[in-house]
Amino acid sequence: MLQANLFRDFEFELEQLEEPQPDSDGIVIKVEIAGICGSDLHAFEGKHPFVKPPIVMGHEFSGIIHQIGREVADSSLQVGQRVIVEPSITCGQCYNCRTGRYNICDHLKVIGCQIKGGYATYVKVPAANVIPLDDSLTYEDGAMIEPLAVAVHAVELGKVKAGDHIVIIGAGTIGLLVAQAAKAKGAKVAISDLQDSRLAIARQLGIDVQINSGKASIIDGLKMFAPDGADIIFECVGKAFTLRQSVEIARKGSRIVIVGVVEGDVSLPVHYIQDRELELLGDLMYTRKDFQQALELVQNKEVLLDPLKTKTYMLKDINEAFRYVLDNPADTLKVFLKIS
Ligand SMILES: [Zn+2]
Ligand SMILES: [Zn+2]
Repeated sequence: MLQANLFRDFEFELEQLEEPQPDSDGIVIKVEIAGICGSDLHAFEGKHPFVKPPIVMGHEFSGIIHQIGREVADSSLQVGQRVIVEPSITCGQCYNCRTGRYNICDHLKVIGCQIKGGYATYVKVPAANVIPLDDSLTYEDGAMIEPLAVAVHAVELGKVKAGDHIVIIGAGTIGLLVAQAAKAKGAKVAISDLQDSRLAIARQLGIDVQINSGKASIIDGLKMFAPDGADIIFECVGKAFTLRQSVEIARKGSRIVIVGVVEGDVSLPVHYIQDRELELLGDLMYTRKDFQQALELVQNKEVLLDPLKTKTYMLKDINEAFRYVLDNPADTLKVFLKIS
């Protein structure tokens, strides 16, 4: 089997290995498609705070069950079955695990981030993390359920309801998925970005308002759409200027959900947060409920994934794939690796 190791920044090393045997309570999956996520790029560049070499990345993937461990009790799992994987490995013991918020487990580890992931022909995962993939979905769709679960979780955390006016800052993959998940709740959605190419995809997806915040102010862009201002803002970039922008444009008494991965310390106008009674919410990962909802949204065609699919590379060309994504940020949404 082929495996892509990240031993140092900016370079994967390909290795031929024996195929792994399943743990007694685990499954070996033959990976078909794995996605490249913004956080994988951060790790590739040596900028990710929690993902460091040496690692086999790949936390968004789909494949086929290849082997099942001796003690796996779940008889619904069969060799040859099409599956996806919820990559969170949690302790089950800490306060948040005990109270249903295992996405913020004190000991959270993620397959493809701290544990060998899907940039390899075969990957070992606990049976409990395996989720069947409906025949109506492609392997590329399957690999996008994880980022969609991120979006579903953010929309739930933000308490989006029908009729709400939502602003999404950033029309990357996650921003466009949050926008669609919020639309599915019956919200009205505006989205801002600096790239017209991404805003064109937002238009194609039926997002109500698109604002190029390099050319027009978001506040002006919202005047017709939401005269009372936005109820909830989703920050889906994670940069200092977009975080500040979120606070500056927020209506008094509104909510901001931070979905983008923030690098380092950021200074914010806290007097606005205090004076305007803003709610600022952190957001991380998802739970199984979010995964199930993500699958349903795609099966019911309430969320469209095809317009977000940019390109597919073979696993052996992984270095080229990562360089392409780094060099073409404006024209790139989801790039996949074909593993098998
Ligand atoms: Zn990701
Ligand atoms: Zn825990």
